[in-house]
Order: sequence, then structure tokens, then C-alpha cells
Amino acid sequence: MKIETVEGIVLRETNYSESSKILNILTIEHGLIGVISKGCRNMKSKLRGVSRKLLYAKFHIYYKENSLSTLIEVDVKNSYSNILTDLDRITYTTYILELVEQVEKQSDNPAIFAILKGGLKKINEGFNPLVITNIIELKCLEYLGVMPSLDYCSMCGSNKNIVSLSSYQGGFICQDCHTNEPLTASNTIKLVRILYYIDLEKITKLDLKEENINDINNFLEEYYDRYTGLYLKSKKTLSQIVKKITITT
Ligand SMILES: [Zn+2]
Repeated sequence: MKIETVEGIVLRETNYSESSKILNILTIEHGLIGVISKGCRNMKSKLRGVSRKLLYAKFHIYYKENSLSTLIEVDVKNSYSNILTDLDRITYTTYILELVEQVEKQSDNPAIFAILKGGLKKINEGFNPLVITNIIELKCLEYLGVMPSLDYCSMCGSNKNIVSLSSYQGGFICQDCHTNEPLTASNTIKLVRILYYIDLEKITKLDLKEENINDINNFLEEYYDRYTGLYLKSKKTLSQIVKKITITT
């Protein structure tokens, strides 16, 4: 077996046998891989503190294609310590890790790793986790194959006089095509496009109104329900805390 170094983020950990764990890691080199961390639950194991989900690292492994690889050593790049001190941030992040695993299974694309890495970095830096989650959800829709129309009216293709952001109609609706969809605030319409195109890593400030954030979150919740076919158990927990999050960005 050859030793390889891969860069990745642990999406899931599962206890295995008496003292080991299996880690599901999203890597740049091989997409999603399974890695066994042998003996890592022993108190004296050097792998103990680094065999957990929500860890960004360089993993030295015995790589086996289409099978479980074996972990040898870990160089941590980010342990996201600020996320781990806040229950709300943990809840958002748990959902993001579960979402990204499902997206990756449908479309193995290096862009998905970049979205995850950028999003976790910004939540760790203290940016509003709801907004960052919404950006990740927007960007993932492309890789789920159900991108909404956010440049033009989804009915006629016009980019003028957009009046509604409709989950039912698959995105923007212009004044001419509008029938009975609820009208959307013009700031929300502008904002949803900005959030879709924004480079997560480059965000330095998010100065958004609560009503616009809520509009976008509601749109995404309906859109995911309607078009993605995903059912994530962590989403339910998340929906319960969304209402009590204070917008502090
Ligand atoms: Zn139209």
C-alpha cells in the first residue's frame, strides 16, 4: 500500500469496533472517501483528538480506491474552535456537513469542497450562520441540478422589472409574467443574486436586513422541499432555532 497525503474536511464520524472510528472525509484529491482511524478512542492514541467531524486537515493515509483507507497521521489546518463553543453554530454546521455529503454524492465536483471550506471559515469567524448557510444552499443547487433562475424571469427570459422570487415558478418572475405569486421586496431580489455569486472566502462584511434574510431563507426552504428530494434530519433541528437567531452581522 502506498502512503498518500490528502487535504479534506471530515463530514461524519462513526464508532467502529471497540476503539476505532470511521471518518467520512470530503477531499480535494478523491472526493468523498472513508478512512479508518484505528485505536483512536484509546486515551493514549495520537489520533484521538484529530479523528472527529468538522476538522480541516492534511491527512496522511494508506489510500485504497473504492475501499476504506487507513489513517496514519494528521496535520490540522483548521479545527474551527469558535464554531465548537456555540450551540447554534454547531447546529448550522451539522446541517451543512450533512447537506454537502448529499450534494457530493449527486455531483462529484471540486467546487463543492471550496464552498464548504469557505462557509465553515466564515461561520468560524463569527459571520451570521444563517446567511452563510443560505449562501451554501444557493450555491449547492447548481450541483443538485436544480438551479433556480436568478438572472432572468423564469417564464419569459426578460431581465427587466423582476417583481417576485417564486419557489413555485423556479426563481425570478417579471411584471409581465406575474400572476398570483407573492411580490418580493426589491432588496431581496438584488440580494439573492449577490449571495449566489459571492465568493465566500472574500466576504469581509455582511450588512443585511432581517426581513431580506428571512425572505431568502423561506424561499430556499420551500425550494429545497419542492425540487431537491433531500430529507435531512438535521434540517428539522435547524428550522427550530432559525426563529430565535438574532441578526448580528
Ligand atoms: Zn417574464
